Amino acid sequence: MLGQELSETGKRLFRDFPILRMLWESGRKKGLRETIALIEKAEEFNRTFAVPRALELDMRMEREPEYFDWDIMREACKYRFLSIFIPKQLGGIAGEFMVTNTSLLMDELCSGCSGIALAVGAHSLGVAPVITSGAMAHWDTVLKEIVEGELKRQPVTMAYAITEPSAGTDVEEPEYLERAKLSLEAKKVKGGYVLNGRKCFISDGSEAKYFTVCAALDRNRPLQTWTTFLVERDMEGFSTPRVELKMGQRASHAAELLFEDVFVPDSHVLGYEGDGMGNGILMIMAASRGPVGSIATGIARGALQHFLSWAKTKRNGKRPIDEDRIRMNLADMWGMIQENRGLYMSNAMLGDAIFGKALDNPVMNLTLSLPSSLRTMPLMRNFLNSYYGKAMINAVLRFYIKDEDMTQLLETASLAKFSCADNAMELCSRALSIMGPEDSEERRWVEKCYRDAKLTQIYEGTNQLNRMVVNNIRFEETLRVEVPRPFKKGVMA
Ligand SMILES: Cc1cc2nc3c(=O)[nH]c(=O)nc-3n(C[C@H](O)[C@H](O)[C@H](O)COP(=O)(O)OP(=O)(O)OC[C@H]3O[C@@H](n4cnc5c(N)ncnc54)[C@H](O)[C@@H]3O)c2cc1C
Repeated sequence: MLGQELSETGKRLFRDFPILRMLWESGRKKGLRETIALIEKAEEFNRTFAVPRALELDMRMEREPEYFDWDIMREACKYRFLSIFIPKQLGGIAGEFMVTNTSLLMDELCSGCSGIALAVGAHSLGVAPVITSGAMAHWDTVLKEIVEGELKRQPVTMAYAITEPSAGTDVEEPEYLERAKLSLEAKKVKGGYVLNGRKCFISDGSEAKYFTVCAALDRNRPLQTWTTFLVERDMEGFSTPRVELKMGQRASHAAELLFEDVFVPDSHVLGYEGDGMGNGILMIMAASRGPVGSIATGIARGALQHFLSWAKTKRNGKRPIDEDRIRMNLADMWGMIQENRGLYMSNAMLGDAIFGKALDNPVMNLTLSLPSSLRTMPLMRNFLNSYYGKAMINAVLRFYIKDEDMTQLLETASLAKFSCADNAMELCSRALSIMGPEDSEERRWVEKCYRDAKLTQIYEGTNQLNRMVVNNIRFEETLRVEVPRPFKKGVMA
């Protein structure tokens, strides 16, 4: 019965993720059909586009780190991967299983090439704060522009910028932010803010048109004044002077952002002044660290596929897979992948339970069902950007998103992030050790996966930081996510 209704991809997903089968049997078929269709697209993207160019692109980016293959973004437009976090009401493809779909998509794409996948996925990280802060005034402009560009295959992308040259780990945890040494500062001036300083390691930073940027209004009180801004590439004084030579995931750039007296208008504050830790960092990390776990899992799965193909190929008349030690290693590797999937899926499903209600409720649906022309009228835009307009949206979000839910989401996200990344490193390392120094196509793939996996231990907070987060939430109860409250006074007021 199940078999007749499902494509091969659907059957594979249900075999690998029994929880999806359970949801199907309990009537969530509509949402799951979208999930299966999305993963079918990811398989096609890998087969026809990513895999054929991944090794060559990786080598080219070592020689020419400045090069960027724009075909990645154009191809992503074809499959609508740039709208994965944009609600359907705004023309995007985010539906019932937004976080789950993002995680499954990254697992699938990264099994092909995680560099290419990161170029696509980091854009959604930039989009996320525009959604979760409830910055509706920008939904009909920035998000619509992304969707329209995507439909015309003219990619418009975003990036998320929190890391600074002397503050990486420090900006990801409230306790550390209090004593962080920051480079970027935003000074309040009439009608807006002037930003000066730098951000670094920003994925997609050299390509994006829009940036969500967190900055302190007072570097001596970073936690209290941490604020999220929407920055546009063509703002005067903004530039991206350099990109890094990366160890792995090279197809995506990590760029430095330079702010020299960049004026950002009041309308471009996402949320309120001073709510950047809750709004701009912890809520985003709670939604994005799980998908980093799925990135690591996809890399591990890619490595396993190449290792298996190596193990089944005869060498000196014998196949490695005929040895028990290889078979046992294969079982261990599959165990690591399934363990990872259990962790990131727990986070993803909790995420959908929380965000689903916040984005799909009568007030949001009514507001989003108003004609776009009405929402973009100057009067309406000014209201949505005003203190009371933000408070109204915030009240709706806060009604559905509770501090304790968000705290639990962050805990599951950090747990998935560090466990999946460590498992991916272990799997790739074992495969490489067994394969030895021979030069074969399979070994070149596994070596790339090893370098790619390393980065998942670093970004979205290092694994050390994520362990501290789990400890602080679960055992010491010293960390709690505060969802920004409506009618909160700006800290500078
Ligand atoms: C490929 C890549 C892509 C990235 N993309 C983005 C992006 O899109 N946007 C963005 O904003 N940032 C991005 N980053 C930055 C990334 O989030 C940071 O590199 C990361 O948070 C670590 O910061 P750091 O490099 O400054 O290391 P540091 O904070 O200097 O840490 C150095 C070492 O000290 C350890 N450490 C530091 N403090 C503590 C502590 N209190 N307790 C225990 N150990 C500690 C760390 O775990 C680490 O091992 C990216 C990084 C990489 C590598």
